[in-house]
Amino acid sequence: MKNLKNALLLKQLYRLKQLGYSYTSVIPFKEEEPDLTLPNTLEKLQKQALECHLCQLSKSRTHVVFGEGNTSANIMFVGEAPGSNEDRTGKPFVGRSGELLTKMIENVLLIRREDVYITNIVKCRPRDNAEPTPTEAHTCQPYLLKQIEFIQPKFIVALGATAYHYLTGDETNISKVRGTIHKQNGYTLIPTFHPSYLLRNPSAKKDVFEDLKMLKGLI
Ligand code: URA
Repeated sequence: MKNLKNALLLKQLYRLKQLGYSYTSVIPFKEEEPDLTLPNTLEKLQKQALECHLCQLSKSRTHVVFGEGNTSANIMFVGEAPGSNEDRTGKPFVGRSGELLTKMIENVLLIRREDVYITNIVKCRPRDNAEPTPTEAHTCQPYLLKQIEFIQPKFIVALGATAYHYLTGDETNISKVRGTIHKQNGYTLIPTFHPSYLLRNPSAKKDVFEDLKMLKGLI
């Protein structure tokens, strides 16, 4: 039986040879389990994120905006997504809303911007400053969760509805939850309005002032 199989195989090979095929040694294909674990340091995580192509935002970005600040900070601010200034510079909150955020940190919390850590739900700019899609947000989420795990902030300020939603899974309107505190996963989450919202609705600044005063009282 084996001889017959070998003879048929040989015949097949001769036929291929007549057709012009020649023998090459075949490297056996070894299937390896892909390594899906994320790196074990913040620096390595950042390096990996900078080379990330897991979602379509990577196709149009100029820079990945991983996050910046004190990597042992007690307070982390999480926004929605980089805008054009952030995409250009690779740094979070550097445009007009960033200026406002910096003022809020320095004038209300009375600490320097460099003393907190600032990042976003997604690390690449959505086209036309659109809200990140659920797929984009969920694809990027492991980076944020690992950042939180490495930095271990005591407080996370969720800036706006998108940050609040993806950090908690709760879809309650931001205007209903701002000013409340949520203890989860070893930190206290404080939802408040996004600085861009404040630029469009300056009358809401007093609410954010109150929320940050409350945070100041807790630290
Ligand atoms: N808006 C955000 O949510 N994040 C930034 O980094 C800049 C603007």
